Amino acid sequence: MNPSFFNPLEPPGAERLRGTGTIRFTYDEHGEPAALPENAVSISRSPDGSIDDIHGGFDSFYHCGHPRTAPLGTKCAIEGCNRLSCQACSARCQRCLVPLCLEHVCRLQTEPGRELTLCSSCHDQVARTLRWKAVGRFLIQPFVAFGNKPQP
Ligand SMILES: [Zn+2]
Ligand SMILES: [Zn+2]
Ligand SMILES: [Zn+2]
Repeated sequence: MNPSFFNPLEPPGAERLRGTGTIRFTYDEHGEPAALPENAVSISRSPDGSIDDIHGGFDSFYHCGHPRTAPLGTKCAIEGCNRLSCQACSARCQRCLVPLCLEHVCRLQTEPGRELTLCSSCHDQVARTLRWKAVGRFLIQPFVAFGNKPQP
């Protein structure tokens, strides 16, 4: 364990007798493998001779800003992102199912009150399809009206 983990626990000038701690092997908020200290215990002799036994905890956070104590959600699959979100903030593209972070999630309204959660490439494809559908409806309309006319 990096000895500096214990520094905040020790009074200035104290002599460390023993340091123990727990490390969680996980990913940092950018999705890189990391060993995060969860807690540390330092037993030290202070300059006035007292033996101090001090326990400390560390706060760490997901990229979405929620603490690591919240359940882990997904790792964003967008190239170069890899951010970890908590379960509540994790999203998935409804079309290709890749996991997305808050920054890479795109929402597309397909009709009033109906929204799709998509990655950016699916968003572009679906938006294009919807545009063509709208154009198609517009083009078909006159023929439909014509077809509905009673035949002479
Ligand atoms: Zn979150
Ligand atoms: Zn997608
Ligand atoms: Zn992302």
